[in-house]
Amino acid sequence: MSLLPVETALAKIFERIPAPQPEIVALPEANGHVLLEPLLARHNQPPFNASAMDGYAVRAEDFAEGVSTSVRLVGTSQAGSAYSGTLNSGEVVRIFTGAPVPDGANCVMMQEVATVTEGRVSFSELPKAGKSIRPMGYDFADGEALLAPGTRLTPYSLALAAAANAPTLTVARRPTIAVLSTGDELVLPGAALAPSQIVASNAFGLVPLLSPFAQAVADHGIARDDFSDLRGKLEAALEADIVVTSGGASVGDHDIVQDVLKDLGVEIDFWRINMRPGKPLMFGTRGKSLIFGLPGNPVSAMVTATVFLLPALRRWLGEDEPLGPRLVLPLAEPLPPNTARRHFQRATIETAGSGATRVRPISETDSGHTSSLAQAHALIIQPENDPGQPAGALVEVIPL
Ligand code: AMP
Ligand code: MG
Repeated sequence: MSLLPVETALAKIFERIPAPQPEIVALPEANGHVLLEPLLARHNQPPFNASAMDGYAVRAEDFAEGVSTSVRLVGTSQAGSAYSGTLNSGEVVRIFTGAPVPDGANCVMMQEVATVTEGRVSFSELPKAGKSIRPMGYDFADGEALLAPGTRLTPYSLALAAAANAPTLTVARRPTIAVLSTGDELVLPGAALAPSQIVASNAFGLVPLLSPFAQAVADHGIARDDFSDLRGKLEAALEADIVVTSGGASVGDHDIVQDVLKDLGVEIDFWRINMRPGKPLMFGTRGKSLIFGLPGNPVSAMVTATVFLLPALRRWLGEDEPLGPRLVLPLAEPLPPNTARRHFQRATIETAGSGATRVRPISETDSGHTSSLAQAHALIIQPENDPGQPAGALVEVIPL
């Protein structure tokens, strides 16, 4: 079987991802969701001409050279309680930060340059029209689109949504995900290991990796390499929108995941992807469920989840950059030549004393070597047949 390029596999997966479905969430629940309808401002911000300083609101023209040098204090405007009148020529109003600038005033003089004597105010600087005033709508205007569909909501964008007076947002409904580990040799962390047993670690990385994109991620535990045990557990897992298995994905005698999925009516593709780590990958659909069969080797499982599952989830949610964040960084040391398979090479990101950020490849490439993956901050995407790169060359990386 020929090896499938990474992009081809991703494109085949993307073809089967359903269109995003709307869900309305309140702001406190919205962090990390992806916007499906634009955030529209419901008013002008600021809603009125607002003072940017504690000081005095004046009419700049009163101070044109040769005109009055002191003006009469007639009132106060503070946040939440505006000066009700119009400022006439020769008048000044005490004003505080965020308070409405009275009609007629066109400049706020900061209090540090003001002298108040017997109800009159003079300034050591000449007032200039517009100074220290945030005009109405300066931040955003009523009806303005502030966040576009496809935006992943962050604390910063949620503060903006609140400022725009939107108590709820229309976001993409997140999928439910079921994770199932397979293997006769697997035991849960904390067990006393009998000879030839292996601790099942994959689910403990996959669940938190996928959680930010899911309504819920359920860990369905370990299925044995036994047709009926695996069938029962997979059938239960198929209640979820997305099922993620690990292990049993090769074509060995004990690798029965494919057979069981077919028996359950899953329409399935088995791919050997042109990448390392993580060659074998299964992808299938049944009704509205998507099924990803990841390799069992722990580094392969996490890397294939990062390269295929996270983009699939971003696509499901309608994110505008389904591949997620990518960086281009200079190498801290040479990158050895690649094979014909695309290499997702573990690497650390470091900030040298000079402040320049660089990426340093980790030489370990074994697909079961979990400690090097835990050390890594990023995966360098090394193209197929890359001849190797000198220190300082720019490489594309996926931050982890
Ligand atoms: P498999 O794809 O089932 O042939 O598994 C490949 C390798 O990954 C074997 O050494 C398994 O013991 C190991 N493995 C499979 N599943 C897990 C898991 N959930 N956690 C850790 N290692 C696993
Ligand atoms: Mg196995």
